[in-house]
Amino acid sequence: MVDKIILEQKLKKLSGLSQEEQAKAIKTLFTPEELKFLKQQAIHNKQPGKCIFCAIVKGEIPAQIVYSDTHFLAFLDINPVNPGHLLVVPKQHYEVFPQLPDELNAAFMKLLKILCAAVFEATNAQGVNIVQNNGAAAGQAVNHVHFHVFPRFDNDGKEIKWKTEKVTDKQLENTQHRIIAAAQKLVVNKSAKKEVEEPKKSKTKIEKIKLKKRKP
Ligand code: AMP
Ligand code: ZN
Repeated sequence: MVDKIILEQKLKKLSGLSQEEQAKAIKTLFTPEELKFLKQQAIHNKQPGKCIFCAIVKGEIPAQIVYSDTHFLAFLDINPVNPGHLLVVPKQHYEVFPQLPDELNAAFMKLLKILCAAVFEATNAQGVNIVQNNGAAAGQAVNHVHFHVFPRFDNDGKEIKWKTEKVTDKQLENTQHRIIAAAQKLVVNKSAKKEVEEPKKSKTKIEKIKLKKRKP
């Protein structure tokens, strides 16, 4: 069994070397088992429509699974922001979030809510971030829809900080109109107007989980 933490450390070490040094280090740094694992990952990443998360879903690549049902899988991220960092994925391969069928969306959100509460409980977190990247420009490295759910602690130094833009009221208004128009078009096209206007109330286990008051 490949220890992914050690493997990750080795990969980090490798990335700091020049190309020439890398070529030499590959032979000495990795065990044959690790090389086989890396090769497997590379093959999966190259196959069109296939990816590393599809391989995890199929059980072809090991992962620390925390939840599985017909449609979704949640497992530990091998590079956690903090311990307890989960990835939640649909079992079917979709590249970006808007491609996820509406029929799956409600169940996906319900599951995220439960896992968010589970991360709070299990890690005694003071906060939890849910992050979802769409497209390489947005930082998506694995092109299979996934939500990151990770615990946060006061002063853990893991802040997500964006550089923001200064905009005029006119620009805000223009953007507002463009997005309203685009959203309305999508809602009409998908005949999902009713669902958008009247979200159904859902009762989930999370309501029964009482979140403890965290100590600073
Ligand atoms: P993103 O940048 O949003 O695409 O995030 C992809 C995440 O997948 C990263 O945080 C990686 O650490 C994580 N990841 C990549 N390969 C694996 C794997 N085999 N098992 C668990 N997590 C992985
Ligand atoms: Zn996939």
